[in-house]
Amino acid sequence: MSDHKQILTQLIEMSRNLGDPSRNLVILGEGNTSAKVDDKTFFVKASGKELRTADENSFVQVSLPPVLETLAGKNLTDEEVKKALSESKSDHSSEIMPSLETFLHAYLLSLPDIRFVGHTHPVAVNSILCSVHSREVIKGRLFPDEIVYCGPAVCYVEYIDLGLPLARHLRKRVEEFMNEQNRPPKVILMENHGLIACGGTSRDVEVITSMYVKAASVLIETYILGGPRFLTPEQVARIDTRPDEKYRQTKTG
Ligand SMILES: [Zn+2]
Repeated sequence: MSDHKQILTQLIEMSRNLGDPSRNLVILGEGNTSAKVDDKTFFVKASGKELRTADENSFVQVSLPPVLETLAGKNLTDEEVKKALSESKSDHSSEIMPSLETFLHAYLLSLPDIRFVGHTHPVAVNSILCSVHSREVIKGRLFPDEIVYCGPAVCYVEYIDLGLPLARHLRKRVEEFMNEQNRPPKVILMENHGLIACGGTSRDVEVITSMYVKAASVLIETYILGGPRFLTPEQVARIDTRPDEKYRQTKTG
């Protein structure tokens, strides 16, 4: 199987798993996914397609450089955004259109070590992201496996208009995160919206999504018994740098 075909097969499987209705991560056409083919191209979910029924026709192959240029360029009207997305398709004869969130997928796939991206709207995560205290509570870590699989910190993006404005604001927050943490984020939380998992493999994205949804469920439940007892920054740093935990992190890949 060619690399290109293999990446698409992995993306389809990841998308179907994330779209499984029993997991409460997305319903209908919610969420989108992407995978990097090489430095020039990537696959992204087409607008209107459902993750749970993903197949070869659910994805559009898009050229990376023009999307990154649009992202770095001037403000565009909705019509101009649509035109830019349409022109970025590798196959101009194809009828399907890339998701409006193609800009943020392109940016994340241009970062080191990120080859697959999965964006979902999990009930547990959105219960937090739609609450008044979301900005404070997402700063704490609750248990070791959350740190091992999702990293010592998450990147938080305040609510902003979807599409190009969101992608630009997300890029700013991710750049700040990388300056502080010296690595790209594994978990990005978009306020009043949802979760993005960034991984080197399709399996990484599934594992990060599952573990962060678990952490979100645990966080909500802690309020029944007086609220969360977050690990201290020293405890978080210790888990993040332990040699045996490093081994576990690589085993998910
Ligand atoms: Zn979304």
